[in-house]
Amino acid sequence: SAAVATASSYEASGSRFDFAKTPSQDLFGSNVFNKSEMKDRLPKTVFKSLMSTIDAGEKLDPAVADIVASAMKDWALEHGATHYTHIFYPLTGGTAEKHDSFMAPTAEGSTLSEFSGKELCQGEPDGSSFPTGGIRATHEARGYTIWDVTSPAYILENPNGTTLCIPTAFVSWTGEALDKKTPVLRSMQALDAQAHRILKLFGHDEKAFVASTAGPEQEYFLIDKSFYYARPDLLNSGRTLFGAAPPKGQEFDDHYFGHIPDRVLAFMFDAERELCKLGVPIKTRHNEVAPGQFELAPMFETANVATDHQQLIMSVLKKTADKYGMACLMHEKPFAGVNGSGKHVNWSLGSSKHGNLMDPGDTPHENAQFLVFCAAVIRAVYKHQGLLRSVVASAGNDHRLGANEAPPAIISIFLGDQLTDVFEQIKNGAAESSLAKGTLAVGVDVLPHLPKDAGDRNRTSPFAFTGNRFEFRAVGSNQSIAGPLVAMNTIVAESLDYCATALEAATGGDASKLNGAVQKLLTDIYNECDPIIFNGNGYSDEWHAEAAKRGLKNLKTTADALGELCTPEVKELFSKYSVLSERELESRYETYVEQYCLTVKVEANLTKKIARTLLFPAAIRFQNELASTCAALKAVGYEFDTDTLDKVTALVKELQDGTTTLAKASEGGCEDMRQCCDEVLPAMLAVRAAADKLEAICADDIWPLPTYQEMLFIK
Ligand code: ADP
Ligand code: MG
Repeated sequence: SAAVATASSYEASGSRFDFAKTPSQDLFGSNVFNKSEMKDRLPKTVFKSLMSTIDAGEKLDPAVADIVASAMKDWALEHGATHYTHIFYPLTGGTAEKHDSFMAPTAEGSTLSEFSGKELCQGEPDGSSFPTGGIRATHEARGYTIWDVTSPAYILENPNGTTLCIPTAFVSWTGEALDKKTPVLRSMQALDAQAHRILKLFGHDEKAFVASTAGPEQEYFLIDKSFYYARPDLLNSGRTLFGAAPPKGQEFDDHYFGHIPDRVLAFMFDAERELCKLGVPIKTRHNEVAPGQFELAPMFETANVATDHQQLIMSVLKKTADKYGMACLMHEKPFAGVNGSGKHVNWSLGSSKHGNLMDPGDTPHENAQFLVFCAAVIRAVYKHQGLLRSVVASAGNDHRLGANEAPPAIISIFLGDQLTDVFEQIKNGAAESSLAKGTLAVGVDVLPHLPKDAGDRNRTSPFAFTGNRFEFRAVGSNQSIAGPLVAMNTIVAESLDYCATALEAATGGDASKLNGAVQKLLTDIYNECDPIIFNGNGYSDEWHAEAAKRGLKNLKTTADALGELCTPEVKELFSKYSVLSERELESRYETYVEQYCLTVKVEANLTKKIARTLLFPAAIRFQNELASTCAALKAVGYEFDTDTLDKVTALVKELQDGTTTLAKASEGGCEDMRQCCDEVLPAMLAVRAAADKLEAICADDIWPLPTYQEMLFIK
């Protein structure tokens, strides 16, 4: 086909980098208005005031805004910027921007470059078309973007100009969060406050913001652009709605960790170089399991910055792929039958003064503190399994979770044998009056060495401890990591609150009682929450049965899971820690339901359209060819049976009937989540089943869509 011809004649062009001449470290952050840039350009007092806002979470002094704005503008103009934009993160999970010119005409007819503190701090993008889940009707007052001091401004380059980008939070005039960013910041505050109560009990009252940290591993597919444009389903819904399995799939494991193809490697160098300039530290790259699938991971950063950077990573990958004649697919399941893509979100908490609080440390005292933080996470995940499941729920991720390539929809924790054994020993110790053999006295004994997870030791667990952090593996490749981080920060804050309250009561300010109190707390938590711990194979049928016996939730689809966002416990949780009000939470529920239904609706429309206007015509052309051949052969007296013609005829009917059923199922406009899940999606699958069987017998030159084999293997 034409697409194959274009794809196979791709010739490398474009940039050539010489890393010896310009090492990455010289480029790192060169397009970022970072701390060192601010230090050079701001008066000392202004710089100090700004830093106390960034590092210690103190309120921004409005007097400094004008000075910072002016310095930021000068820096941006030196980088060739002509415009600035407040970047914000609407509930769609995307990134939004509206550009303003620095130019302002004067009465004399010349122009001035203007940028005031007010313009830096607050923007009015309107943005009335973004989903707000009922918080803000279009006729109501506008939404505002508010400068997020904690995430640095940066310059985005385009061959024809550059733009100053200012990360912001997006709120309604009543101060309600209309975006994904605001709750991340609020949840970090909540976590900090509760973490400090625990730290204080362990004798640490250093003043330093305890931030959650995140390192998201991004999986994605790359295919030649000509295939992408020849597939209306990929182009419009991000995934193939049709396509027979290729003769060769991923069964040889010959792609995983294999040699990275040259075109792809060139793309990676380029994308990582761009990200380097933006201060996004990319650490690892490799081939993933499915053919055409790759992964990239940055160094972890504080949750809010990691969230912004993750959005940048996705957009830079897409933009750069285009430069190399490829399309970068972020969908969770672009191709049926081979692995889909996820985004493992590595999560921990810590500060410059306290270090990583999920690191077990070397002394009994450090170990005891670590165990409290670890137990708090175990309790949080156990209590709020439903919430964790709901924040990774999306139409795309439904095709991946539980498909034996990604964690099941059941939330459980992989602790590893050693750490599980530690909790068992603590429990045994508490059960016996004197500490027997095989027990561990908290604060007295040193923990055995806990192995750091090298590679994916247990890929089947949705939530795994990996030596000094937890890894939330159920997140979808296309999702913003904000939702999962908000959930983790808030449930752990609540759990730390519980632990601190218990320990404060038990010790009554007497530090000598701490170890005993911790031992009891850990035992209580472990006794209550150990059903959530599972170190075995999460893909196995036995686990599904066992999980049901343990009373764990198994919310298979988005339609089953989203409701968990609005349970009384979850409402109480988010309002107690001032992360999301009831209205804000409900608005998110409404928005995500709408997003799900819209996605299914678009896919249903595409399925009908492609079936009717591309596949059905192709099939009857082939049918006609077969029929005329049969007629011609009969005319000259050949005796034979019409096997293939019969098959094609039956499949054409199946395709038509399927399309009719789908049309009926989606008649109402796909507005009901349950109906989308239970009727529309299965009807789409039935159409696909007929089409895929047709693809397998139809003449290749008649079949109008690029095949899986072409898309996945031509590089
Ligand atoms: P693996 O494939 O073994 O899970 P990767 O190297 O692909 O490991 O990714 C590990 C990710 O975990 C990286 O993004 C890394 O920065 C991140 N990470 C490491 N330590 C922490 C931490 N304390 N908090 C959050 N993320 C972390
Ligand atoms: Mg990992």
